[in-house]
Amino acid sequence: MSNRQHNIAVIAGDGIGIEVTASTLNVLRAVEKKVGGFELKFDELDYGSARYKTKGSYTPEGWLEHLLSFDAIFFGAVGDPEVPDHISLWDLILPMRQKFQQYVNVRPSAILPGIPPRITNAQPGDLDWVLVRENTEGEYAGQGGRTHVGTEWETATEVAVFTRRGVERVMRFAFETAQKRPRKLLTVVSKSNAQRYGLVLWDEVAEIVSKDFPDVKWDKMLVDAMTVRMVTKPKTLDTIVTTNLHGDILSDLAAGVSGSIGIAHSSSLDPTRKSPSLFEPVHGAAFDIMGKNLANPIAAIMSAAEMLRWLGEDKAAEIIERACKTSIEKGQTTGDLGGKLKTDEVTDVVIKLIEGL
Ligand code: ATP
Ligand code: MG
Repeated sequence: MSNRQHNIAVIAGDGIGIEVTASTLNVLRAVEKKVGGFELKFDELDYGSARYKTKGSYTPEGWLEHLLSFDAIFFGAVGDPEVPDHISLWDLILPMRQKFQQYVNVRPSAILPGIPPRITNAQPGDLDWVLVRENTEGEYAGQGGRTHVGTEWETATEVAVFTRRGVERVMRFAFETAQKRPRKLLTVVSKSNAQRYGLVLWDEVAEIVSKDFPDVKWDKMLVDAMTVRMVTKPKTLDTIVTTNLHGDILSDLAAGVSGSIGIAHSSSLDPTRKSPSLFEPVHGAAFDIMGKNLANPIAAIMSAAEMLRWLGEDKAAEIIERACKTSIEKGQTTGDLGGKLKTDEVTDVVIKLIEGL
C-alpha cells in the first residue's frame, strides 16, 4: 500500500518565523519516519518582507491560486521593523483568510505541568481553554477609508462588518467545539452594550444557534469584564467564542496567563475543507530576539501537530504533542519558560523524545 501524501505550502516569513519553521520541519521529518504510513511534501515559498524589500511585493502574481492546490499551509511569522505592519497584514495574511474562507481561528491554551504560574494560585488543570476567534469579518473587514485628508478634520473610518451568515457559521463551530469537550461549556464574548448593531446581531445569533445544542451550557460576557474573569476565575471558562479584534486581544491574554507566547499555537480553518487551512504560532517575527537562537520553537511545532491532526494523522499529532509536553515538564525549555536551552537544543530534545516514544 502506498503512503498517504500531504502537500504542504511552507511560508517561513520573517524574523524568528524562519528559525521556528526550520525547527518544525525537522520535527515533522522525525515524526514522519517514526510513525510511517504518510509522506509530507514541503514546498517552501519565499513570501515575506525580504521579498517585499527587494522585489516590491510580498508575493508573486497568482499566489492565492497557487496556494489553493495545497492540502495545508504552514506559516511562520511575518513582519519587519522597516515595513509598516498593516502592509504585511493586508498583503499576505488577511487575503489568505478571506480568499480561503478560513473563518475560524482556533487557539487552545492551558497551564501545562512544568510551566511557572503566571497568575496567583493557578495550577495545571485550572486553565484549559479553547478560544474560537471569528477570522474573516468584524473589525478586520477592511471597510472604511479616509476623507478630508490634510485638514484638521481628516476623518478615518474603520467599519466593523458582521453578517448573519458569518456569525452563524463561527457560532456553530464554537458550539460544536464546546460539545466535544468534557465540560461542554461555552462563553460568548461581545460588546453588545456599546455596539448596538453588529454585536447585538452577534448575541442574537448565539441565542438561535444555542437551541441546536441543548447539552452545551453557555453564557454571555462583555469583553471588558471577560478580561478580569480570565485572570481571576480561569477555571470557570472552557470554550470561548469572540469577534476578530476581541479574539486577537483575548488570545494574547490567554497566552500570557497560561505560560508564554512562545508556546501559543493557532489554526485558521476552513471547516468546509474547500480551501487549505493554515497553521501558525501566535507570535510574530520578534526582531528583538531574531538570529540569537533564543526563540521558543514549541508554538510552531504544536501548530504543526494541529496541522497533522487536520490532515487525519492523529497518531503523529499526538506523538508531537506528547514530546512537547514532556520537554516542558522536564524543564528543557527556552528562556521565556525559565529554561536555559536554545532554539536548536529544544528542537533536538523534542526529536529525541519522538524517536524514543
Ligand atoms: P506582531 O506585530 O506580529 O504581533 P511583535 O513583534 O509585536 O509581532 P511578537 O513577535 O509576537 O510581537 O513578540 C512579542 C514579544 O514576545 C517579543 O518581544 C519577543 O521577545 C517575545 N516572543 C515572541 N515569540 C517568542 C518565542 N517564540 N520565543 C520567545 N519569545 C518570544
Ligand atoms: Mg503581537
